[in-house]
Amino acid sequence: MDYKSLKNFCVEKDVQLVAVSKTRSNEEILEIYNQGQRVFGENRVQEWQEKKDQLPNDIEWHIIGHLQTNKVKFIIPGITLIHSIDSVKLLNKVEQVSKEANQITKVLLQYKVAQEETKFGIDPKDDHEILQLCLGLKNVEVCGLMAMGTFTNDKAINKREFENLISIFDRLKQNEFKDHDSFKIKSMGMSGDYELAVNNGSNMIRVGSLLFT
Ligand SMILES: *Cc1c(COP(=O)(O)O)cnc(C)c1O
Repeated sequence: MDYKSLKNFCVEKDVQLVAVSKTRSNEEILEIYNQGQRVFGENRVQEWQEKKDQLPNDIEWHIIGHLQTNKVKFIIPGITLIHSIDSVKLLNKVEQVSKEANQITKVLLQYKVAQEETKFGIDPKDDHEILQLCLGLKNVEVCGLMAMGTFTNDKAINKREFENLISIFDRLKQNEFKDHDSFKIKSMGMSGDYELAVNNGSNMIRVGSLLFT
């Protein structure tokens, strides 16, 4: 799919597009950049470090993949949004490193809504501790939620998962994040399911293969 069509879709639906550039070369990234895209997503810290210095510095980089605690110090400052906060330990680390760097870091909480066993994420039935932690943070701003759907052709399964994330979002927005205006991002939808995700409440999609092929 060409960039312009996807971008138009996003503008029409008021959705933010994260162009997922993992494994792509600088040339491929610049091709999308030159058409106006400024937000790119990477899933590996080392790959991002190798790329970022060779690319324009007005790119906003998001980390979308599973993040190890010992890598946090390499992405602060530098990363605009971390999509993949999935544990108390990781969130505490981001708070600590952000404090040392004297900055406020924006993050999303990654929830596990997929049936697949291998997916990372917070269990919606066991989120009390991390939500309590969120409320005491000084150097981290929790801006919303992220989830990945099951890799399947069965749209009904993905639809249920997306609806599930939205109901978790609504629960948090009415309770823990009631007074947090910045808690508004629902990051869900990839190349295979972004339309379904947007039709079910997503306002940030992460699209890679569809854009780069
Ligand atoms: C790779 C990746 C994407 C993009 O996947 P595509 O199917 O290539 O669009 C989105 N989110 C995460 C977390 C990813 O790792």
